[in-house]
Amino acid sequence: MANFETPALREYPIIPLLRADTMAHSKTFAAKPEFQTPLGFPGELVENWEQKAVDKLGELVSQSRALQVFLDSCVKCGACTDKCHYYLGTDDPKNMPVARQDLLRSVYRRYYTFAGKVVPWLVGARDMTKDVLDEWYTYFHQCSQCRRCSVFCPYGIDTAEISMAAREIMDSVGMGQRYSNEIIGKLHKIGNNLGLPAPALANTLEGLEEDVKDETGVDVKFPLDVKGADILLITPSADFFAEPHIDGLIGYAKVFHAAGVSWTISSYASEAANFSMFIGSHDNLHKVAMRIRKAAKDLGVKRIVVGECGHAWRVAYSFWNTLIGPFDFLDPRYPIPQHICEFTYDLIQKGALTFDKSANDDKVVTFHDSCNVARASRMGDMPGGQFVIPREVIKAVCNNFVDMSPETTQEATFCCGGGGGLLTDDLLELRVKGAMPRMQALKQVVEENGVTHMAAICAICKAQFTKVVPYYKYQMDMIQSVHGLVSKAIRLTPADK
Ligand code: SF4
Ligand code: SF4
Repeated sequence: MANFETPALREYPIIPLLRADTMAHSKTFAAKPEFQTPLGFPGELVENWEQKAVDKLGELVSQSRALQVFLDSCVKCGACTDKCHYYLGTDDPKNMPVARQDLLRSVYRRYYTFAGKVVPWLVGARDMTKDVLDEWYTYFHQCSQCRRCSVFCPYGIDTAEISMAAREIMDSVGMGQRYSNEIIGKLHKIGNNLGLPAPALANTLEGLEEDVKDETGVDVKFPLDVKGADILLITPSADFFAEPHIDGLIGYAKVFHAAGVSWTISSYASEAANFSMFIGSHDNLHKVAMRIRKAAKDLGVKRIVVGECGHAWRVAYSFWNTLIGPFDFLDPRYPIPQHICEFTYDLIQKGALTFDKSANDDKVVTFHDSCNVARASRMGDMPGGQFVIPREVIKAVCNNFVDMSPETTQEATFCCGGGGGLLTDDLLELRVKGAMPRMQALKQVVEENGVTHMAAICAICKAQFTKVVPYYKYQMDMIQSVHGLVSKAIRLTPADK
């Protein structure tokens, strides 16, 4: 176990303590030149970086009216102060959303407002210095861009956008984060975050076919690069190997099999995740997403279905149309794109799937809403579908379901603590502490309702929770993929054999 104390679990709402600089030592590894340059960023801190950072800030503000409004309109009402899981878990006042915003806002004021230029000391304006840059690096890598604070801000100020802008500025002067930039580089080169080449992927999928045949006696296929398939499945690469993610992939395959549809994975675009969003880089966001468009066109599919990945669903649902659209080559009778939960829910509604719910009777399940699904997308054709549909899928396959406290679910959900490019072991202390509010809500339903498992539809949430729940004395196998639960309960009829 690491060299820090796991926070004690406290009742929510938690009265936050102020302990200055408790996380000032937290520094995620910086990207070396070999991880910077393939993404189009300088390899190291450039000459005259102060002016270049200020110029980049001006450029971003001039391109984004929203960013300018966010920087101009905070009235310091304090409504956001106790809404960030990192503040609640660390007590560091710089992890209050308003304080985090002010790290960037103070520089914006200094160079881009009249008062900041003339009387900087009166308006909290600061020069762009190395200390400021270091502080940005520390605290903008303690924001998972979960957007919870924006739900409670009367002006809707979105700290995630400010955090993305700060990271974009830092990348532009040669001060990027190793974890995110290395992953994006792998995706550009090989097609997925893991750097898993096509032959290894094919091997993995063949192994899964054998496993499912052994388990069910049914020939469930895991097709790769099948031209003319109806559906292209875009899923996080964690689904190809890690627990509990892989159980989800098996669940998707069983659902596709039961539905009698043809589908395929692409070895060229074998990744749903797009970490470029976390670093605020539009160019990389576009380049990564274009692989998916190209794969869909090359394979000649009619539909794209997205697996259980939170931020990937945000990118797909909210950005794909303008980022890599139009999708006029896909079948307009189906949602473009469609979430795997929507796909399964639709079949459940039609009575097209058979389940034995008792297969999950060893569990009392709760559901963790993932930030990017909850606050930055929708699912299905109903308001709040992103909350209803995953829960309805779980209830269709489990007899025992319990929701956590409403202050911690749906739009108000707490981040898992590992989102936004922070799922790296060099930030483990932050991840464990940032998970505290979710762990508190989980503890409540464990004690009051006998909850034994927590399901999620995000690869980052699942990876983060399996790592951090042992710090809170829970077993890592309590974390489930929603489609892992589906996989357990679905019954493939003899006609499917
Ligand atoms: S976006 Fe999330 S992580 Fe970032 S400051 Fe707001 S609540 Fe905290
Ligand atoms: S809630 Fe909004 S306006 Fe109030 S302090 Fe926070 S960011 Fe500023």
